[in-house]
Amino acid sequence: VLSFWPNMPHKTACWGALFLALVFCPRVHATDSDCAPKTNEPLAEIGQPPNLGGLKDQLRYYKCSGAYDRDFSQVIDQAISYVVKRTPELAKESKGRKPAIVLDIDETSLSNWVEIQADDFGRILNGPCTLEEDYPCGEVAWQQRAEATKLDTIRLFNKARELNVAVFFISGRPASMQNATEQNLVLAGYSGWTDPVKLRPDNQGSVEGFKTAARKEIENRGYKIIANVGDQYSDLRGGYAEQVFKVPNPFYFIP
Ligand SMILES: [Mg+2]
Repeated sequence: VLSFWPNMPHKTACWGALFLALVFCPRVHATDSDCAPKTNEPLAEIGQPPNLGGLKDQLRYYKCSGAYDRDFSQVIDQAISYVVKRTPELAKESKGRKPAIVLDIDETSLSNWVEIQADDFGRILNGPCTLEEDYPCGEVAWQQRAEATKLDTIRLFNKARELNVAVFFISGRPASMQNATEQNLVLAGYSGWTDPVKLRPDNQGSVEGFKTAARKEIENRGYKIIANVGDQYSDLRGGYAEQVFKVPNPFYFIP
């Protein structure tokens, strides 16, 4: 058997077979127990955008490798440090302003990774979400399941509550999702936030405009928002927060 290895044409044929196997082997979605960077990602050709399939593989690896969680937790650590430092300072300023933080929900306080994977990074608004293999998961149905899981932001939430800092949730989810969203937050372990979760009334302007107005209204009631945490820039722009904290989300974009 070994004797044919030094034989050049056979060796070339073997490499050729390996190449074909790598290119044509069926796509297997990485799981935490089966997490490896893909070696067969197509390279971006000069002057062309990168291949979408390759990008999806990179995103799955970013998540399953733990790099996403690490990057996420670093931001939460910074936010915790800031809140721990600023809360007693604010009390000494004695302007009667109550300390508060604002948290976004999706991909900030709750992870929708299960839906994101079921939809292969697409956005499918309507239709059922059975989570059966090879079926897509409609976003409305997914949110009604109230099965999104907690993210590391829960550490910041609990620290803020421990320090008597009010926590407000502001989310671009539709107002019809009020009960399911609050139920999901409770099931994920959040408890003791201030006010009902603030959701975006249907057809009300931009996400950024809605969120900015909601923070302004909170500050007008005598709160000082010391930290605003979100995964999208539309969560964070517009002011009415002393400091903003952007957690990573390369999986989707909300203008
Ligand atoms: Mg979000």
